[in-house]
Amino acid sequence: MAMAMAIATPSRLRHLPFFLLLLFVFFLVAEPKYIAYNTSQGIVPGKLNVHLVPHTHDDVGWLKTIDQYYVGSNNSIQGACVQNVLDSLVPALLKDKNRKFIYVEQAFFQRWWRQQSDAVKKVVKELVDSGQLEFINGGMCMHDEATVHYIDMIDQTTLGHRFLKEEFGQIPRIGWQIDPFGHSAVQAYLLGAEVGFDAFYFFRMDYQDKEKRKELKKLEVVWRGSRSLGSSADIFSGIFPKNYEPPPGGFYFEVDDTSPLLQDDPLLFDYNVEERVNDFVAAAVSQANITRTNHIMFTMGTDFKYQYAETWFRQMDKFIHYVNKDGRVNALYSTPSIYTDAKYAANESWPIKTDDFFPYADKPNAYWTGYFTSRPALKGYVRLMSAYYLAARQLEFLKEKIGSGPTTASLAEALAVAQHHDAVTGTEKQHVANDYAKRLSIGYVEAEKLVESTLACLTESVNKSACVNPSTQFGQCPLLNISYCPSSEIELSGGKSLVVLVYNSLGWKREDVIRIPVISESLVVHDSEGREVESQILPLVKASINMRSQYVKAYLGISPSIAPKFWLAFPVSVPPFGFNTYFVSSAKQPGSVSAISTLYPLKGSKSNNIEVGQGHLKLLYDVHGVSHYFDRRSLVNMNVKQTYSFYAGDNGSGADPQASGAYIFRPNGTFPIKSERQEPLTIMQGPILDEVHQQINPWIYQITRTYKGKEHIETEFIVGPIPVEDGIGKEVATQITTTMGTNKTFYTDSNGRDFIKRIRDYRSDWDIQVNQPAAGNYYPINLGIYIKDNSTELSILVDRSVGGTSLLDGQVELMLHRRLLYDDGRGVGEALNETVCVDGTCAGLIIQGKYYLKLDPIGEGARWRRSFGQEIYSPLLIAFSEQDGGNWASSHISKFSAMDPSYSLPDNVALITLQALEDGSVLLRLAHLYEVGEDKDFSQMATVELKKMFPDKKISKITEMSLSANQERTAMEKKRLKWKVEDSPGSEATVRGGPVDPSKLIVELGPMEIRTFIIKFNYIFFLKKFDP
Ligand SMILES: [Zn+2]
Repeated sequence: MAMAMAIATPSRLRHLPFFLLLLFVFFLVAEPKYIAYNTSQGIVPGKLNVHLVPHTHDDVGWLKTIDQYYVGSNNSIQGACVQNVLDSLVPALLKDKNRKFIYVEQAFFQRWWRQQSDAVKKVVKELVDSGQLEFINGGMCMHDEATVHYIDMIDQTTLGHRFLKEEFGQIPRIGWQIDPFGHSAVQAYLLGAEVGFDAFYFFRMDYQDKEKRKELKKLEVVWRGSRSLGSSADIFSGIFPKNYEPPPGGFYFEVDDTSPLLQDDPLLFDYNVEERVNDFVAAAVSQANITRTNHIMFTMGTDFKYQYAETWFRQMDKFIHYVNKDGRVNALYSTPSIYTDAKYAANESWPIKTDDFFPYADKPNAYWTGYFTSRPALKGYVRLMSAYYLAARQLEFLKEKIGSGPTTASLAEALAVAQHHDAVTGTEKQHVANDYAKRLSIGYVEAEKLVESTLACLTESVNKSACVNPSTQFGQCPLLNISYCPSSEIELSGGKSLVVLVYNSLGWKREDVIRIPVISESLVVHDSEGREVESQILPLVKASINMRSQYVKAYLGISPSIAPKFWLAFPVSVPPFGFNTYFVSSAKQPGSVSAISTLYPLKGSKSNNIEVGQGHLKLLYDVHGVSHYFDRRSLVNMNVKQTYSFYAGDNGSGADPQASGAYIFRPNGTFPIKSERQEPLTIMQGPILDEVHQQINPWIYQITRTYKGKEHIETEFIVGPIPVEDGIGKEVATQITTTMGTNKTFYTDSNGRDFIKRIRDYRSDWDIQVNQPAAGNYYPINLGIYIKDNSTELSILVDRSVGGTSLLDGQVELMLHRRLLYDDGRGVGEALNETVCVDGTCAGLIIQGKYYLKLDPIGEGARWRRSFGQEIYSPLLIAFSEQDGGNWASSHISKFSAMDPSYSLPDNVALITLQALEDGSVLLRLAHLYEVGEDKDFSQMATVELKKMFPDKKISKITEMSLSANQERTAMEKKRLKWKVEDSPGSEATVRGGPVDPSKLIVELGPMEIRTFIIKFNYIFFLKKFDP
């Protein structure tokens, strides 16, 4: 049979159609064989170069926790395993030396790295050295840019960058913020240029702006984020046309993806080389049409991809091979660094961009401005821990790491991870939010031990080297915000007194009032010199007691037997970078006791006005609340009204369906909140402060404080549980309304640093079409918001990140809390409906927070915003101890400053990092707090005398570093690419401090300048007692 077939075949062939004949011949000549794909192509001048950038975007927690993502558990929520990505990457890169990959999130990479064998580590180091594997961005996470504070951004970037430097000798060159929901000026100039990045890539920006930019080929710009630092902090910024995924046309190659694979084996069906090459060329040409120069980037990857890396590389090998054989465009394996260098080499001038990219909208009714406030408790916790971390590192430095003992390391990592764009943003699932809080809590507990033992050492002995196991016990009260403080709620009888140590992490002397819960009303306070300090007793109100008992039960699982009945308030004065001690005891003689606040209700007719305020600031209240603000010193005089309202969260069922949710603020109407029945105001007055208590409605309680020695208002709000029984989610806002003529203009900070001018219903980059008059005018606030007219400035500062706006002239609005019932369709798959459960009964979360308000004559507001703003960021750290009898002062140091007793930092400089490093050197960061032109005196060059900052140590070496402390500043400046701009908006001369003379050791700082140093100390003297 076989023979007959063979003979017969030629004659049959003659009857076959011609095309089949051709195919047959093709099959006969195409041997099944190995194809060596040529992937070696570099850049080809004169051709359109398509840079294929293989990448994975690994959220450091979102739908799953960071550890679940890493190990690949909880896959019923999301099939994602970062370990698979990194494991499969190594062999895939080894297979072909032209293949490249970038890795971003160091929190994941470090988890993986510490599990690898020396052999794998060696191979990976070679891949890094050869440039096949490049670390970019390089922080622990890809931090958010709206709800994070610049100090946290710096810290988390430093943590990742220093690891990469130490382990790999690598310095990341590229900012890669591809997923955060809008982009900040501080990211561009500070976490971009000042870190030493040559470029910064992202994609999320207002859809209207993006369309315009595509038309004008303005997706790639030079971003000048700082008015103060000007062109010296420019950075090249590339905005992806669509997203951070492969281009349209089917180029997704995960194992289970549905894109058509390039099939080039002629022995198999569905051979499609020509079609797929055409698809690729079409995608490239389409992107080239909106991009300047002949370089475009294809971002080859997306969330948690490359779990089996070979599937992507196999396809990209083929595309590069066949596309280059085709020859119409040039395809190459690339990285953002190679792409950036190609853009630079093109020697173009680029459009300039100033300010920022907020707010972000991806559709007409989808403004991502809800997350500015989402999860306000987590936001508050992150901020609190950030300040604690700053102070704890100072104490770790002062302790000089004697012995092993607790450290700040786990708090550092927890805080770093919490800056992720689905962490502090509030856009993660509830169980993931809990995971972030748990990590912070674990980190705090360890840092707390370090703080307490260091304080014990510092108080106990002038000879620190002897201080290994100090006997003094300190306790702290992280739950002071819910009036829970076991250390201060003690019986003071039989000569026992409460020792209150107050630590000041700021570089200047600080006068403040502290408040602690106590169980007795008959108390007296003495300072460290034995002088009696005026103090005041304020009754603990029902709203605070309820919150305390419910939340202590919910979070600690206990019902404390003792309940404090009072707050004890007294003024403290604390030296810079040091502490002071106060003693609270039972009052023996009558007359020398804390003043009990006078307490009375205010109700009745509108004419029933009352004035509060013990110092210069006087506030007038009527039954509806505050009505008038008058400062007897500055003579600012203004009618002021405060109101509450809520936005009804859209349920997503109407026209252009879009619910309000964790990301998106989509209101469906705004409703004033009025007292359902006229609750009287309660006024408490005393020598230190006055409080006005208002039960706004059954679920909003407010306390307004004015202090004798301060000229601002402090407002504490307790909001929740927000009722949703009517099926409507609610977003609660407060408004401060004046008669100021502010011409649609207000100012909000960028990550707690530069203030940016905002104009209602206006964008400087394009003609905005307004679809969402409230949501589209909301901006992130980390430090504050202010408005001004010809004579006055009104500033509001916040204790955590919130959303804010000015929807009416003369008015400022803050969004304080959100409780919503529908998912907003951006992936999280949960409604933002936070609850707290006690004994199986759950209720909506109650939020306690503060904001601060001040009116100033025009031109004078910056001083308060900057100096007091820094005090809000770094609250006094309070530690408690007990003593029997009055012997503390004889056995302890009760007042101390680590600086020269005659020295303090200038009012315009903050010490933002002081951290002992592993090798015994010290990381120091100093920040100028004022912008150019912000204040007539403080917007000037400032100087810091390091010899006086460290009077007991001798600096043997000082090296100025880049912001993330991974390279010398001079080397960074030499390397960094300088980009040309098309239309410079006139550059003023930038003021920066000069080099530090190692003999004088004086650091100069220009406006908004942050300088980072590594200092080596020669030898160490013992700490000196602070001489009062
Ligand atoms: Zn993400």
